[in-house]
Amino acid sequence: MEVECLMAGSAGSNCFVVTGGKVVVIDPGLNPRAVLDATRELHIVDLVFINTHCHFDHCGCVPELRRRLGGKYLIHELDAPVVERGLDEFMLAGLFGEEPFRMEVSRRLKEGDVVELSECRLEVLHTPGHTPGSICLYEPESKSLFTGDTLFSDGVGRTDFPGGSVEDLKRSLEKLIRLHEKRGVEKIYPGHGPVGSGDDISEVYEMYF
Ligand SMILES: [Zn+2]
Ligand SMILES: [Zn+2]
Repeated sequence: MEVECLMAGSAGSNCFVVTGGKVVVIDPGLNPRAVLDATRELHIVDLVFINTHCHFDHCGCVPELRRRLGGKYLIHELDAPVVERGLDEFMLAGLFGEEPFRMEVSRRLKEGDVVELSECRLEVLHTPGHTPGSICLYEPESKSLFTGDTLFSDGVGRTDFPGGSVEDLKRSLEKLIRLHEKRGVEKIYPGHGPVGSGDDISEVYEMYF
């Protein structure tokens, strides 16, 4: 599995292009050009877009990318209606001076689901708190964890947006600590800021809870 990190847009959200048989773009963000450039040289047989949650700074350019490249779109079942119905109270496009969009979801994810890339796999962990349908994606071979806005290398995502919950976020971090203890987390690829390590999880937990 290879991971390329793109700074995906003005809001500074990270986009990760994961290649391992299929090409998976995690949190395409707001800059379609960056994703188009990063995927141009790849031999794409099967393209999948996954959002860690429904906020516009992570999903804003997905409609344009799907128009140009095709591909399936996956998001947790609790955040899927936000995208399908363009609910800006939860999508927050207005916060970025943009209009919300409506888009069909190809597959609704839930806890324990697996996204197969043929050479590797991404396991879905439901980690609500930042939004009700926030997820982390764990790749067991390289022990990589894509955390979206649930966890950064030095902090946690905000819980004061609609649907946010401090209690849920606390439980979600406890789930990630158990994952690190049982199976190991080498690298954390967060929704914003620098890449971190598995030990960041408990350090951040101690800092915030
Ligand atoms: Zn967010
Ligand atoms: Zn974000």
